[in-house]
Formats: sequence, C-alpha cells, structure tokens
Amino acid sequence: MLENLKSPEDALEELPQAAVPVGAIYQTYGSARRGGEYNSHLVFSVILIVLAATNIVSLFWFAWVTLCLVASLLLDQRPWQRKVALTALPGQMGLYLQVLGRAFLNTLPHYGIGFGLYLCIYPLRERLNLPLSSLFMLYAFYMVLRMGYVLVYTYALTVGSRRLQLRVFHEQRANLRTPQTALRHVWWTYFLGNVGLFVKCSIQVITIGGFEMLRQQAGLDLYAVAWCVEHANFIQGVGLALSVLGILFSIPLSTKVYYRTHRTFHTCKPLYDSIHAIHHRGILPTPLDSGTISPLEFIITDMSRPVALLIPNWVFVLNEIVVALLGHLPAHTSGTLRKVAQHHLAHHKFVVCNFGLLPKNDERWGTRFVPNQPSRGK
Ligand SMILES: [Zn+2]
Ligand SMILES: [Zn+2]
Repeated sequence: MLENLKSPEDALEELPQAAVPVGAIYQTYGSARRGGEYNSHLVFSVILIVLAATNIVSLFWFAWVTLCLVASLLLDQRPWQRKVALTALPGQMGLYLQVLGRAFLNTLPHYGIGFGLYLCIYPLRERLNLPLSSLFMLYAFYMVLRMGYVLVYTYALTVGSRRLQLRVFHEQRANLRTPQTALRHVWWTYFLGNVGLFVKCSIQVITIGGFEMLRQQAGLDLYAVAWCVEHANFIQGVGLALSVLGILFSIPLSTKVYYRTHRTFHTCKPLYDSIHAIHHRGILPTPLDSGTISPLEFIITDMSRPVALLIPNWVFVLNEIVVALLGHLPAHTSGTLRKVAQHHLAHHKFVVCNFGLLPKNDERWGTRFVPNQPSRGK
C-alpha cells in the first residue's frame, strides 16, 4: 500500500519554494480566467470539424473521435460549469499558443535536420513502409490493450469475486470511493483516452505528411541532381541510419520540452484548468488514465521529436509499443513495485513534484521527489 509515502504537505516542504529557475517553464504573458476542464477538447473538436470538412481527416475517424468525446462528457458527472467555460476560452488559448510557439522554437533546429533527412530518404518511403498507416496500427494496439483493461476492470467491479477485485482493482485503489464510481471512471478514461490517443498515434502521419507537402510546394527534389542520382544508395543509407539514430538523439530535447510544457501547465492556472487538470483526475491512476491527456498537450509533447518520426512506419509503431509497455503504462499503474513507475506516480499523488518523464530534468530544476518504495499490503 502507499501509506508509507510522505504526506503532500511534507513533500511540499521539501521542494524549493523559491522562484522557478530560468528555463524550467515557458514564460507566458497576459492572463485568462480559470475553469473549463474540457475547453481544450472543445478547441480540438473544432479543429477536427475543419479537418473533416476539408477531407484531411476521414469521416470514420471524425465520427469515432466525436462519439468518444460525447460519451466521456456524458459519463462525467461534474457540473457543466466545471466542464466548459466558454468566456475563459479565448484567453486560455492565447496562453496556450504562447507555449506551443515557444516549444516549436525550441524544436525548430530538429525540424530543420528532420526535413534535410526527409529529402534524403523520401524515395524509400513506399519500399520500407507497410501499406497500413502508423496511425491505424498504433491505435489498434492501444484499442486492444485498453479494451482488455476495461473488460477486466468491468468484470471485477460488477460480478468478480472479492479476491479478483482486490487483485486487479482495489489493490490499486484508483479513484475508488465505491465500485460504481470506479466503474464510471474506468469507462470515462476509456472514452476520453480514445480522443487524445488519436492525436498521439497520428504524430508520424502529420509530420511526414507536412514534410512531403513542404517538399512538393518548394519543388525540392535531391534526386533531380545528377550527383545525387549517382550516389543515391549512399545518401539514402546515411539518411535512414541517421533517422534511426534520431530515436536516441531526440530524447534530450523531447524530455526537456515535455518537462517545460508540463510544468508550465501546472504553473499557469488557467492552462492547468483547461488542458491538464483532466489528466489529474487519476490520483492513484490505472494504465487507462495514461490516455486522458488533452490532444492539445499531445500536439506539443509528441511533435518535439521530428527526427525520430522519419523511421519506417512499422519501426515507429514497434518503438512506440515498447515505450508504452516499459514506461507510459506502468507509470500509471498505482501499486506497482516497479521503481521506474514511482517517479510519475508520485507526481499524480503530490502534484508539485516530478514533472519530467525522467528524473534527470527534475534533478536539474529542483523538483525531484523520491518516494519511499511502496510495499504490497494485504
Ligand atoms: Zn501533471
Ligand atoms: Zn500521468
């Protein structure tokens, strides 16, 4: 159980309360009113309508994502005033665009390198990729896995034996006041997660589609140059090798952008309310809570690694699955004994610490908190 963790008050005392160090957050200017936990989802749904109207997003995806958003809104029993705050929305989006712009500027050199590598390897695209898009493959993985969690939790909370409930759910004590509220939370996380994950799973398609559009608009074709045609195998080989290495080279930048974005969303209260608060509904989360991240947050944090997105679509999907199974899902499994998961679990429990994906960024900016290792109770 988790009783041997320090109380939130103790954790607060141990964290430096001085001014936030330079570079730890994206400084924002101006203000906005607070409230509106679904405000960023509403903005995303307007973007989705525009994309569907212009045939960039298919009617199938539009209908499914909209259905999931409506289902999660209906399952959420909080008052509508807490869910939506339309008057606060313009100011909140003004603040959000500043964070988006600053993160994009941070990432710009990587976009330059990524585009250069894309020009080297674009002729390989059809030969190296599977005909299925990475969006479809990755979303299918999450759907199967998350549906498994939903079914097990639903079974445990409705007809399962007490022993099974303790094993798969109560032991994790995730947002559990009664089995009914827990069940509602499970299905809410499932539907809302399907909205955010649509953006997370689209990242490769968006990035490569954007690079190809830019290449065509600018009329750039390396292989129109005789020297490049002569050395095509060499150029493409080097481009591909550097793209694969890009998975590693992108880690320092993407974890830094994640830290700064995440901490800014906590520091700037109108942004916290409208974008990030919804993810913190899971105080002692389950793996399903790992999906309840706003699409607008996913846009910033997942677009910060353009070089790592150039790899063939099946390599990208495999890499994402490994990262999800080793990091993203266990980091939201309350009660786990895995040490790597404790860092983010402490963030959900104490909120004021551990903003980074890895402890390294928290160490650098003075927000690391190491909880005592929980032990399983009876
Ligand atoms: Zn957070
Ligand atoms: Zn989380």
